[in-house]
Amino acid sequence: MPLSKPRLADTLIRRIPPSHRADLSGILISEAELQTRIAAIGRAIAKDYVGKEVLVVSLLSGTVLFLADLLRQLPFPLRVDFMGVSSYHSGTESGHLVFNKELKLEVKGSHVLLVDDILDTGKTLRAVTAKLEALQPASIRTCVLLDKKERRVGTFEADYVGFVIPNLFVVGYGLDYAERYRNLPFVGVLKPSVYSEVAEAPEPVRKVAKKAPKVSKAVGKSIPAKKGKKAGSTGRP
Ligand code: 5GP
Ligand code: MG
Repeated sequence: MPLSKPRLADTLIRRIPPSHRADLSGILISEAELQTRIAAIGRAIAKDYVGKEVLVVSLLSGTVLFLADLLRQLPFPLRVDFMGVSSYHSGTESGHLVFNKELKLEVKGSHVLLVDDILDTGKTLRAVTAKLEALQPASIRTCVLLDKKERRVGTFEADYVGFVIPNLFVVGYGLDYAERYRNLPFVGVLKPSVYSEVAEAPEPVRKVAKKAPKVSKAVGKSIPAKKGKKAGSTGRP
């Protein structure tokens, strides 16, 4: 059963701790809200996979904290594997995806639960599900912590969604900007000035940005993308 009901459609952005005030404009989702929602997703997933063993496939690296909390809510036998995928952008153009970490475990005949941090345009999950489908799993379902529905290009829906969020660039709880902020225990909103200043910044800062392709991707996120292809269908356990 999909859990895609918007819970934070009109999100109230709260006050942020002083330590992060310089870079964040607010907290979008608190630690307590994350845990409550993840427990609910865990219950829904557990119901759907009664009597089945699951292969959890998690996309690196943004899922690290979400995955750790979600796994603790899944009371059935499972295996976990990781896939690495990056998107490279040039200017405002949507970039191509590069797989930089392949699965180790056998997918054929498995009930795959694909876990990602954010469903944005849908490009990543469309490509990953197509790649997984070619490996002949028994079924594929997708679970995302965050869904930026209004950014979708084409039609892709996740089976389990934590929170539907507005079109804001978020960090924390595993999500990065230039590989930073992953350790924040909440999901916060990064001030646009943090990433728009990069181009004007002194040399050392620009170097960090160049090394991290996700930076330009992140900046590109707020720019409307072109229409894409329709999503591939996913199987059911
Ligand atoms: P899509 O392929 O759906 O457009 O993009 C999905 C990926 O883009 C996510 O898995 C995530 O890595 C990245 N992404 C999209 N929006 C954000 C955001 O607001 N913050 C961060 N840190 N990453 C994002
Ligand atoms: Mg990602």
